[in-house]
Amino acid sequence: MELLIRNGAVYDPVNGIKGDKTDISVKNGKIVDKVSSGCKEIDAGGRLVMAGGVDAHSHIAGKVNVGRIMRPEDSRAGIEPRTKTTRPCTGYTVPNVYAMGYRYAKMGYTTAFEAAQAIMNARHTHEELEEIPIIDKGALTLFGSNWPTMDFVRENDMDKLAAYVAWGLLASRGFGIKVVNPGGGEMWGFGKNVTGLDDVVPEFEVTPRQIITSLMKVNEMLELPHSVHLHCNNLGKPGNYTTTLESMKLAKLVKPSKDRQVMHVTHLTFNSWGGTNWGDFESKTDEIAKFLNNNDNITTDMGQLIFGNATTMTADGPVQYANAKLLHAKWGNGDVELEDASGVVPITYVKQISIHSIMWAMGLELALLTNDPYKVLLTTDHPNGGPFVNYPEVIALLMSNKKRQEEIATLHKAVHSQTKIPGIDRELDFNDIAIMTRAGTSKVIGLLDHGKGHLGIGADADISIYDIKPDEIDPSAEHAKIKKAFSSAAYTIKGGEVVVKDGEITSTPMGRTFWVDAKVPQAHTDEMMKDIRMKFKNYYSINLANYMVQDAYVTHPNVVKAGINTAVSEVD
Ligand SMILES: [Zn+2]
Repeated sequence: MELLIRNGAVYDPVNGIKGDKTDISVKNGKIVDKVSSGCKEIDAGGRLVMAGGVDAHSHIAGKVNVGRIMRPEDSRAGIEPRTKTTRPCTGYTVPNVYAMGYRYAKMGYTTAFEAAQAIMNARHTHEELEEIPIIDKGALTLFGSNWPTMDFVRENDMDKLAAYVAWGLLASRGFGIKVVNPGGGEMWGFGKNVTGLDDVVPEFEVTPRQIITSLMKVNEMLELPHSVHLHCNNLGKPGNYTTTLESMKLAKLVKPSKDRQVMHVTHLTFNSWGGTNWGDFESKTDEIAKFLNNNDNITTDMGQLIFGNATTMTADGPVQYANAKLLHAKWGNGDVELEDASGVVPITYVKQISIHSIMWAMGLELALLTNDPYKVLLTTDHPNGGPFVNYPEVIALLMSNKKRQEEIATLHKAVHSQTKIPGIDRELDFNDIAIMTRAGTSKVIGLLDHGKGHLGIGADADISIYDIKPDEIDPSAEHAKIKKAFSSAAYTIKGGEVVVKDGEITSTPMGRTFWVDAKVPQAHTDEMMKDIRMKFKNYYSINLANYMVQDAYVTHPNVVKAGINTAVSEVD
């Protein structure tokens, strides 16, 4: 199957293409250098062309379902009836599985990663991922409060910890190491939390600092495609930016094993908080951006707040209890045996509430005050900051100071005194946006080498065409056109197949699931499994044999190989 896309204004940062009028050739689902004459053609007519969007942090499967059950009212939002091609869609903050795939594809996205799955719940996560049409996906596996992690960290046995991570990724068919409020998930089992990097987790005698550092080390020993993906301690507490900065400094302790960061710190809208209470609450994104501008090997994402309904969901159990009390909201709580915790709380972000207005500013500030767009990815931490269907709104805000000023005029006045956003006039361009939604997200997750986020020869033929001509539009003044175009791709091509045309789904192929098979010496696995077998015998409610995700749960796998490299060097 061959396809030629003619005359597109292509933005492909990885290959240094910034709006050049270029043709793209596609054969058998990949980008090639040429195709035979007479093949199918699409005339882009000077319109904007990018690689398919890649979402590096979203919640699309697993505890999402708790949100669906808790919020039957949400299912009535966003109802789209069945068509000849599509199944019926429901939901806005917690859409059904079909809506997930279709809505990403309509925005020109072709890949999305679930940011947190507990190993014990991974079967369910994959059952849902299997039902999401069109897009490729993967899931990051929670390790930060797991008993074996903390035992091996205390013993400072990095071989066993690496063997455990490799086994955990296999057991969960996971793609990388997620760490949420390290140590806090275990403490939550006793109704408690950790309050900083140096609190000691009772019974295990380890600190969050040790957990993060050790997991970074084994991440690089295993040469995993992605880095450690960290949700910092103290999320949701005024003044937490100091904990965030202290956590980010840990990235200096470990060298990356490949061309990427060693730590990705996620959804900083929830972690850049100054002040000591809700009264003097303020944005400290300037301090975070200063750190990012002066340090490499570390990346972040926005977790942009969107006004209106959201459903917060996180493995950070204690923060959700605090949210539910504060908001008098519905509260779903989970404890995953020897692993992490979780919580789900609905929320509505309101422009007249000072805290929400200040938080709205934070994600944008982070992206606009950080010089390098590869260091701040575009996310809403769907559906925590807001549903992913609002990415076009975020793009328009980043590209237009005029739009930001129009929005600021409608917000609580605290946005003037407690944030920097009113005085920031930087406007991002199409190349920056292509980085924050494609090149950067793919690089950070570790998918550049696996065909995502760029349009070079050999890449996956995941391509989006938007109905705007970059050399004719002024994104600053015409921000409404920008938002409209990114909301409804003229074409989305997935693996060489047209799946969206003029904003409508035309085909619903099954996407693939990326997971990582990391090899470690058998002797390390054998030693490690003695501990694991003991824990299953004594503490787990299920049998080891029923714990592993079998191949049948991942019918279209894309297995990325990784494995031990004992020569990882540490920086003193
Ligand atoms: Zn998240």
